[in-house]
Amino acid sequence: MSAPKKGDLSAREKELFEVISAGNVQEASRLLGCKDVRVNCLDEYGMTPLMHAAYKGKADMCRLLLQHGADVNCNQHEHGYTALMFAGLSGKTDITWMMLDAGAETDVTNSVGRTAAQMAAFVGQHDCVTVINNFFSRARLDYYTKAQGLEKEPKLPSKLAGPLHKIIMSTNLNPVRMVLLVKENPLLAEAEPLDKCRRVMELICEKCIKQQDMNEVLAMKMHFISCVLGKCASFLKEREDGLDGLVRSLLKGRDADGFPVYQEKFVRECIRKFPYCDATLLQQLVRSIAPVEIGNDPTALSVLTQAITGQVGFMDAEFCTTCGEKGAQKRCSICKTVIYCGQTCQKMHWFTHKKVCKKLQEQREKQEAEAAKLRMQQSKGQTLL
Ligand SMILES: [Zn+2]
Ligand SMILES: [Zn+2]
Repeated sequence: MSAPKKGDLSAREKELFEVISAGNVQEASRLLGCKDVRVNCLDEYGMTPLMHAAYKGKADMCRLLLQHGADVNCNQHEHGYTALMFAGLSGKTDITWMMLDAGAETDVTNSVGRTAAQMAAFVGQHDCVTVINNFFSRARLDYYTKAQGLEKEPKLPSKLAGPLHKIIMSTNLNPVRMVLLVKENPLLAEAEPLDKCRRVMELICEKCIKQQDMNEVLAMKMHFISCVLGKCASFLKEREDGLDGLVRSLLKGRDADGFPVYQEKFVRECIRKFPYCDATLLQQLVRSIAPVEIGNDPTALSVLTQAITGQVGFMDAEFCTTCGEKGAQKRCSICKTVIYCGQTCQKMHWFTHKKVCKKLQEQREKQEAEAAKLRMQQSKGQTLL
């Protein structure tokens, strides 16, 4: 069959575009089974059925089209938009993910030179930007599970690829969360496998810097993960309390205000140890962090998170005080100033939070009393007028 031409559609292909708009997966499935329906046919603007489904935010339809061999990297659109770009514009993270998982190229640009991540950022779809910037396919990791060249054994035992990939794909860079991910997997939670993973992360970091389309963001992320895994390994080797001890060190707040000094210093040190001093991203990070006194905002973790995931601090979601997971809802019932994703995280934090909880409660009550007084004065003022 010759390559599809723009707007050259059979009657059934026209019908396919209609049922995609309507979201009728069953009917689309039937049409895709017909001989004269090409899954990569193009409408008059050069859009494929997959591009339409992605733009309309229809995940089931996208899945169906991919199963039928839709080309995720088709680049015939009149303005050079790809299916990944349409997914990013739709704001649907699951579809963005699906396109990436199907092999969508992230560095292709449209006719005005924008990548999918840049387009998504332009229209304010920051969650999609996060997904794109942090994507690292399992296949790229699996490369290290095969012995290369003269190697007798692969750098990464294949049983570690799954748990390591889970850590890589997490958009939550909070080191506590990462240690917990390590801890929950017995295969990973030992010094030797951790050292192997750490070395693979550094190799990928190097590759991200040295490849033609340099990806400093991903390089920094890989380096940071490598640092956290290295820290896990050294706690397992040197400390009796192992990973629990590391979690406690990372959470322990200073007496004055509960600020986790060790964690802040650790994150700063990781950034400083990034091996490619010329990287623009490194210089940006150092410039943002260096002038900040420890304990003040922004924290090194928030600066790093913003640089890597594109997440901005003023987002309306609440983050767990312990592990940094998004969507935390359980507030400490005494001080009501800290918030957790669940009881486990609250319990983990209590050994240090209990030292400042009362103080925070008093501060909050004082602030509330002052606010009430102010409101009263204002309303009195109004009656006098
Ligand atoms: Zn949590
Ligand atoms: Zn409290």
